[in-house]
Amino acid sequence: MNIVLLGPPGSGKGTQAKMIADKYKVKHISTGDILRENVRNSTTLGTEAKKYMDAGKLVPDALLIDIIKDRLAKPDVRSGWMLDGYPRTLPQAEAMGNIMPGLGQKLDVVLNIDVPDEELVQRLSGRRMCKCGTSYHIQFNPPKETGKCDVCGEELYHRDDDKAEAIMQRLETYHNQTQPLIEYYSKKGVIANIKGSGDIKQIFAEITKVLDKF
Ligand code: ADP
Ligand code: ADP
Ligand code: ZN
Repeated sequence: MNIVLLGPPGSGKGTQAKMIADKYKVKHISTGDILRENVRNSTTLGTEAKKYMDAGKLVPDALLIDIIKDRLAKPDVRSGWMLDGYPRTLPQAEAMGNIMPGLGQKLDVVLNIDVPDEELVQRLSGRRMCKCGTSYHIQFNPPKETGKCDVCGEELYHRDDDKAEAIMQRLETYHNQTQPLIEYYSKKGVIANIKGSGDIKQIFAEITKVLDKF
């Protein structure tokens, strides 16, 4: 099964992705995590991407398309993948559509997670991240021990782009550049709409109702 998670920043893609990957044995591919790892390691890609990320803007399509082309060709995704944070623009979606047939892959379902902007601002400003990709919230989803990751024990951090100014820019970027993908995938008949507000486990239960059909 191959899945795309679509939704604004802070809609809970990463949070739900962990649970989906466990239950359905699909490989979780987060382009945000890949980029942040490159930033940490000061690679050429990381250095180029960082200026866009810190400003709340999208990293250029060409770079993302290369990342995805490489990633989908790796053997560990053959039994199924779940993209979290890709595609974010129409050219990215079209590029993916062109890459998949050559790899013998097809997209089964796009989970479109919907959360109102006011709630997204609260979620992003209180988000704390771990290097391992797990995210927490200081109120809504705190770790067992303050400031430490439940999964790997590492120190949590506040992302540079989870601060007020970048948050507003990212929401605007989402509405202008990513939201059109809802219509694009609706026309292809692969969209499932998920209400992303409320209890994390309840939202996961709604997602399983959709994914159990595949
Ligand atoms: P969020 O939690 O906001 O959904 P991500 O961790 O997915 O954020 O992405 C963080 C940043 O990395 C984005 O704001 C953007 O700058 C960059 N990024 C991630 N995925 C993409 C993509 N598919 N296209 C362009 N930029 C991306
Ligand atoms: P995304 O990957 O879409 O950017 P995350 O999964 O990182 O989003 O979630 C964003 C923030 O919101 C995190 O702090 C997370 O703990 C919190 N969060 C996730 N789901 C919910 C929910 N259903 N209710 C409240 N907070 C949530
Ligand atoms: Zn961790």
